[in-house]
Amino acid sequence: MQQAAAPKISFVSLGCPKALVDSERIITRLRAEGYELARKHDGADLVIVNTCGFLDSAKQESLAAIGEAMAANGKVIVTGCMGAEPEQIEAAYPGVLSITGPQQYESVLDAVHRARPALHNPHLDLVPPQGVRLTPRHYAYLKISEGCNNRCSFCIIPKLRGDLASRPAADVLREAEKLVAAGVKELLVISQDTSAYGVDLKYAESPWKDRSVRAKFLDLANELGELGAWVRLHYVYPYPHVDEVIGLMADGKVLPYLDIPFQHASPDVLKLMKRPAAQDKTLDRIKRWREICPDLSLRSTFIVGFPGETERDFEFLLDWLDEAEIDRLGAFKYEPVAGAPSNALEDQIPDEVKQERWNRLMARQQAISARRLKRKVGTRQQVIIDEIGPTVAKGRSKADAPEIDGAVYLSSRRPLRIGEIVTAKIDRADAYDLHGTVAGF
Ligand code: SF4
Repeated sequence: MQQAAAPKISFVSLGCPKALVDSERIITRLRAEGYELARKHDGADLVIVNTCGFLDSAKQESLAAIGEAMAANGKVIVTGCMGAEPEQIEAAYPGVLSITGPQQYESVLDAVHRARPALHNPHLDLVPPQGVRLTPRHYAYLKISEGCNNRCSFCIIPKLRGDLASRPAADVLREAEKLVAAGVKELLVISQDTSAYGVDLKYAESPWKDRSVRAKFLDLANELGELGAWVRLHYVYPYPHVDEVIGLMADGKVLPYLDIPFQHASPDVLKLMKRPAAQDKTLDRIKRWREICPDLSLRSTFIVGFPGETERDFEFLLDWLDEAEIDRLGAFKYEPVAGAPSNALEDQIPDEVKQERWNRLMARQQAISARRLKRKVGTRQQVIIDEIGPTVAKGRSKADAPEIDGAVYLSSRRPLRIGEIVTAKIDRADAYDLHGTVAGF
């Protein structure tokens, strides 16, 4: 008897790593039910578009992706952040089958079942226990909470995703352990506000192995550090208790890397932004962190041209950067987001001023980055291999997160494998990347 073909779904995942995790969960469920993934919209039974609604430019990108899917296929299900405000999508594409907001996995699956029921084939019910991941096999994002209790004036994420909802520590640890057992070498801890983890649970304990673990940033980081993989902490706000985690970095339990989205340095702008943990002692703390853990790399993002940012505020930021020596930096020109309170602020900054400040910020950062990287020439660094090229391999040191930071380009006497961690001697540095030779396997 000829077997019916499994329904094929083409999947588009847009937006941040948090949206990527949502996509992975949906795909895992679909694969468990016997659906297959298609490479192209054309010929697939359905298209799912996981949208991003963070900035207006991201919304445009999402609408364009929906338009492409409608033109190439016609059966389209939309989910994700932009789906939380469906009016714009409905107006542009009234034929879309279903629109849901972020984390509404069940509704997405219901819509898929309605449009194209799954095959009942027990042989297809085979999904690896760690789920299906969209990142390469050797690293994985680990989402520890959803939502956010802060109310930054430029951001609508709490409106889209609600208040902070943390996962119990044992739940996170079980997922992390499965990932490591499946070959993951690096866990990237993400959330909207990682250092606030567990506040909503009142730091409740949950049973893990022979002990109980509190849903607390430090306790979770400590336990993750026991699993034998690199642990990288993203979206950490500098609340006072972050100081404690630096000790874990100095002990080699978690990577000496902190991704702190400072967004600005000027106290006046931070106040207008309503940023959490905005306080003037940050420079002193960074200094202390580097005394405790000299290898610490700091990554941050900044917004230039926020309403009310004066030339003095901006220069304050440039000077602050010089002092803080932020290793890795992403900069954005302020963009009003529909529904964000900052739209109503006075003194919006003209586009040409935003551009000019952005250029100056990037030039300053390039000099800082080059200076910081130069100090690494002659040292030995552990490098995780991401790509193999014909002559050199591309990897990352402990100071580089995938996708957003720099790279280490390596030559090697013997072939390298993706996901392998090697020791490299650093021969030279440029503005953002390092170059070296493999010195140990
Ligand atoms: S911390 Fe601020 S910017 Fe980040 S998600 Fe929460 S409200 Fe938005």
